[in-house]
Amino acid sequence: MTAANPPVSIDFPDVSMHLVRPNEPVRARVVRNEVCTRSKKAAGFVRHVEIDVSGTPLEGGFRAGQSFGVIAPGEDERGRPHKVRLYSIASPTAGEDGAGKILATTVKRTIDEHWDTGRLFTGVASNFLCDLDEGDEVLVSGPNGKRFLLPARPEEHDYVFFATGTGIAPFRGMITELLAAGVESKIALVMGAPYRTDLLYDDVFMRLDEEHENFHYITAISREPEGDSAGGGGRGVYVQQRLATHRDELVPILSSPRGLVYVCGIAGMELGVFQELARQLPPMAREPYLVCDDETLAGVDTWDRRMIHRDIKPTRRVFLEVY
Ligand code: NAP
Repeated sequence: MTAANPPVSIDFPDVSMHLVRPNEPVRARVVRNEVCTRSKKAAGFVRHVEIDVSGTPLEGGFRAGQSFGVIAPGEDERGRPHKVRLYSIASPTAGEDGAGKILATTVKRTIDEHWDTGRLFTGVASNFLCDLDEGDEVLVSGPNGKRFLLPARPEEHDYVFFATGTGIAPFRGMITELLAAGVESKIALVMGAPYRTDLLYDDVFMRLDEEHENFHYITAISREPEGDSAGGGGRGVYVQQRLATHRDELVPILSSPRGLVYVCGIAGMELGVFQELARQLPPMAREPYLVCDDETLAGVDTWDRRMIHRDIKPTRRVFLEVY
């Protein structure tokens, strides 16, 4: 990128927020609930749940990338109604139905132990959502979020999306929206999962990759060994390592003045993505995404999370949502 080739400006669309407040949630109805891994042998249990919000203020009121609230029935240990839990919308802005009436989300069952008692911990909302049948009612609120969105003029940009696990949810919506609109932007999705059997919506993205020349689906499996020739050194790989192994595909997108980076999933991946952007991109291509001084840059191998926003500053071209 040169001064004669400045970054394309980014404008955001207007979005509605809090059309339904969590203290006055509305009733919606589950219309589909299915496993979203191809294999039944997946280590985690993740379900794709579709909810009909027609007739509520949420109908036509959400955008890809936003989230919505679920208020689980029952009370907390203090006898108060459960607080709202937010879930990423996995649908495009037009919803699953094309008319903004049905939104989807991607829910992983919580199956854990209480760290103090060692007893089974199943959380509040995720298992409730996963257990809902078609026709069941659910109290919802939202939408929430105004920053993790596609830009207002999506055709003016190219995209690299990095997802781990259920962090794929907003990208399912965004990518299907971009491709359905016929944008000719270059779009790469790098999807990370522990095992191949854990890849979410794998069949959807494989099909989109086959159908659209401008979309590339790249996976990064962390717990299955990958050969030396693929850059994995015989170990599994994290999504950020694809910037090295798939340099020829990803670096040209990021080096263009149109490039945008989206990151969603497990906390920790953002640091890894930043380190790999710093290592793989030449300075002119790196600066539009990350601002850091020369001394910080020289210490890239020892960066830690606390340096993010303090010493390593992502720019407006980087969209982050990690938990
Ligand atoms: P998962 O299936 O366990 O997959 C996570 C993958 O990320 C694993 O392959 C894991 O590898 C890898 N990983 C671990 N540390 C990493 C690092 N430092 N850099 C890159 N990759 C790393 O995922 P999950 O259980 O669905 O969890 C997804 C996370 O995304 C949750 O924390 C969830 O809260 C968050 N999320 C956020 C949003 C949002 O912000 N809107 C939406 C949905 C999900 P190993 O385990 O093999 O090390």
